Amino acid sequence: MSVLVVGTTALDSIKTPYSENPRLLGGSASHAAVASAFFAPTRLVGVVGGDFPSKHLNLLRKHRIDLTGLERVKGGQTFHWSGEYEVNMNNRRTLETVLGVIEHWQPVLPGELETTPFVLLANISPQIQHRVLDQLKKPRFVVADTMDLWMNIALDDLLRLLKRVDCLVLNDGEARQLAKEDNVVAALPKLHHLGPRYVIVKKGEHGSLLSGPEGLFVAPAYPLKKVIDPTGAGDSFVGGLMGYLASQKKGTINQNLRRAMIHGAVVASFCCEGFGLSRTTKVARPEISARVRELEKLVRF
Ligand code: AMP
Repeated sequence: MSVLVVGTTALDSIKTPYSENPRLLGGSASHAAVASAFFAPTRLVGVVGGDFPSKHLNLLRKHRIDLTGLERVKGGQTFHWSGEYEVNMNNRRTLETVLGVIEHWQPVLPGELETTPFVLLANISPQIQHRVLDQLKKPRFVVADTMDLWMNIALDDLLRLLKRVDCLVLNDGEARQLAKEDNVVAALPKLHHLGPRYVIVKKGEHGSLLSGPEGLFVAPAYPLKKVIDPTGAGDSFVGGLMGYLASQKKGTINQNLRRAMIHGAVVASFCCEGFGLSRTTKVARPEISARVRELEKLVRF
């Protein structure tokens, strides 16, 4: 089954203590769609300006991502994000966000996308996430990703969105902020109370935590000796998770979600090994399977 991903298609300028890389292909939807496409047919819904290089479009196409839902605004400016990492790579500072064509974007889904069963509302404003959801016909599983920015400037829209989704994915700091609770485990029932049946809390290099009808599950992160650039790791995690879920012919979503988190964690690990999408877009499927097997061994006791 196929996956629809809506989010940002961006140009990212990324600075680490070792290197600086301007205007790379990035954005929540680009990272998530590339990750999802390893496992399932994937449709990207987004918007870019006339400055978006055609080599980026070609790269997305090479990964068999359906771009019928990608709008191009001639003369418009593509969403641009720039960020800087500290030495330990866990702390990141946003230097600049230029919304460009995203600011007034009113997504209109091409008819053939309306019946996509698996829907990932990747990080973008909750207003846009609502608008896409409004146009979908009975999706089977809807996952929403978000960030602290939307809790600060669009909380009402975000809270309304949470009543409409099956699963919320957010990082530990955001979980604390949204639940107004310092302890992440104690935050979980509060987050369920806001709507979603499943909540997944990402904890960076420490893995992720699923809370659902069968209680908790802890997924590790793949242990990396060297992180080059973690930008997009969260998007790759949730994109990989969705693609894996959509690819499974047997079992329920509930039964497949744990393995999906492991596959998401593995794609995220590749993402961290290069700037932007440079490493992820060179990964071969057997490399993913090999890391999944390694993770299985690492957590068996
Ligand atoms: P992550 O490292 O998983 O948090 O994702 C980073 C990606 O999110 C980058 O490629 C950015 O282009 C994108 N991004 C940054 N800020 C925003 C924002 N406000 N809304 C949506 N996407 C964003």
